[in-house]
Amino acid sequence: MRLRGALGDESVRVRMVIGADGVEAMVGRWAGLDTRVPARDMESCAQYVLRGIDIDPDAIYLQFGRAIAPGGYAWVFPRAPGIANVGLGIVALKADGRNAREYLDDWIARRYPGAEQTGYTVGGVITHTTITQTYTDGVLVAGDAAHMINPLSGGGIVNAMKAGRLAGRAAAAAVCAADTSARRLSAYHAEWMRLLGDDHLKYYRIKQALEELDDDFFNSLARTVNAIPGDKRTLGRIFAHALVRHPQLIPVAAKFFL
Ligand SMILES: Cc1cc2nc3c(=O)[nH]c(=O)nc-3n(C[C@H](O)[C@H](O)[C@H](O)COP(=O)(O)OP(=O)(O)OC[C@H]3O[C@@H](n4cnc5c(N)ncnc54)[C@H](O)[C@@H]3O)c2cc1C
Repeated sequence: MRLRGALGDESVRVRMVIGADGVEAMVGRWAGLDTRVPARDMESCAQYVLRGIDIDPDAIYLQFGRAIAPGGYAWVFPRAPGIANVGLGIVALKADGRNAREYLDDWIARRYPGAEQTGYTVGGVITHTTITQTYTDGVLVAGDAAHMINPLSGGGIVNAMKAGRLAGRAAAAAVCAADTSARRLSAYHAEWMRLLGDDHLKYYRIKQALEELDDDFFNSLARTVNAIPGDKRTLGRIFAHALVRHPQLIPVAAKFFL
């Protein structure tokens, strides 16, 4: 294997490689794994750290809408009183020609005019399901490199950490047993699917069903939820009210169980 780094080029022989190289991963592809992403499942995201904004530091804020974040959503994740990660994700295929940063700048200008912008992050988030094979002879892939992000929320940090732990353990055991064959390493894939991968298949089906519903529907759903008194607003009650008032949701909910 050839390495290129700050100290120059180097060749090493290894028994195992773990590709944890993120959303633009190459290791899996070099090993012959299929890591292609459908364009409809690739979100472009942009995020600032904003200071001096009026937020409840114990709440997260999510805003949905075609004009704000087509195909995705905008978020405010508090870091401390008055300070938050403020960002959004869009699906370029559904956008009006603006990129994620332009959508974000417009949203912030309306919502938090005058806020101080510090950190800035931009990148892709894959809202697909785990690649069908995350292993081959002497190679495992983990995290974004294997599309292990929650396809509904776009969250991938905890998932990548959990997959990294599974991959590290599987690789160490394989090296100790002097068997780094694909046949042995397939147990890593099965373990990941049991842990979170199978849930992601369900979330992906729900994501696809929700894509069929428009902003007017989500507005009426929000009104239904708002009509439930605050102290009675449990998840179960929200779900029950939503299904009774909006029967279009029944096939969406069914996707979770099919
Ligand atoms: C704007 C934005 C906001 C996000 N917010 C959240 C959030 O709030 N919560 C959440 O759960 N998820 C969030 N995500 C998703 C989350 O960042 C990823 O799912 C997570 O970081 C995946 O971890 P990873 O280790 O698989 O990949 P990464 O964090 O991308 O790490 C891969 C690393 O490999 C390095 N690398 C790649 N190629 C090479 C190479 N050839 N040689 C050496 N190094 C290499 C990269 O530089 C990088 O450091 C967000 C994503 C974006 C873009």
